[in-house]
Amino acid sequence: MSSRRQGASSSTASPVASASNAPDVGALDRAIVGCRACPRLVAWREDQARIKVARFRDEPYWARPLPGFGDPDARILLVGLAPAAHGANRTGRMFTGDASGDFLWRALHAVGLADRPESRRAGDGLTLSAVRVTAAVRCAPPANRPTPAEQLACRPYLVRELELLTGLRVIVPLGAIGWNAALRSLAALGHPIPPPRPGFGHAAEAVIGPYTIVGSYHPSQQNTFTGRLTPAMLEAVLARAKALAATPTNEAQR
Ligand code: SF4
Repeated sequence: MSSRRQGASSSTASPVASASNAPDVGALDRAIVGCRACPRLVAWREDQARIKVARFRDEPYWARPLPGFGDPDARILLVGLAPAAHGANRTGRMFTGDASGDFLWRALHAVGLADRPESRRAGDGLTLSAVRVTAAVRCAPPANRPTPAEQLACRPYLVRELELLTGLRVIVPLGAIGWNAALRSLAALGHPIPPPRPGFGHAAEAVIGPYTIVGSYHPSQQNTFTGRLTPAMLEAVLARAKALAATPTNEAQR
């Protein structure tokens, strides 16, 4: 069975042009899904779909870039690192189908931001309230390590996503790469980064323009299996984001 799904055109066009031409979030999502701008990542994501792993050998893989997922009127945006080769790169939805997603959905549900504590496949009806989940890099990278050039290439999509989510109030980067991508994207949108430059940390906060950034360790197995990130720690960050998102936005800052 082919690992490639039909319906979205593929493009080696510049992500800058594709993103800036998207008039709304739906159009941006479609542009992302067709992107082939990074040869190494295009090859890797498609190789994983051919090679597979034993437990998923009978499943079709998405094997394309991942658009954001969640509430189109989001007030909270979670920014992960990149799709996992046999998680989102397989299921076609952010954080869906792997242990990181299991950890994240449970935490979102625990604080009232998701309608169920688990989700293993796209199209299962999982609904997020006021939350959208996205990533700094949209294609699965080898060893979960996109190069700086690949992070830079993919950033226009996050910049445009931030711009199009007009009700957004809080950004929750999951890990240092997400934190840096968020700060650089906000700077690209003309929001000055206050000196000294805010550093990433779990529960670290920074106010930039109309947004509050609240950092969290990434729910990778490396962090959750070692106890570096516990359910209580992630729930505390998400509860803080929820509380901040409920406060009025200073529209004058936009
Ligand atoms: Fe396109 Fe981003 Fe994937 Fe690179 S990582 S191919 S810019 S979607």
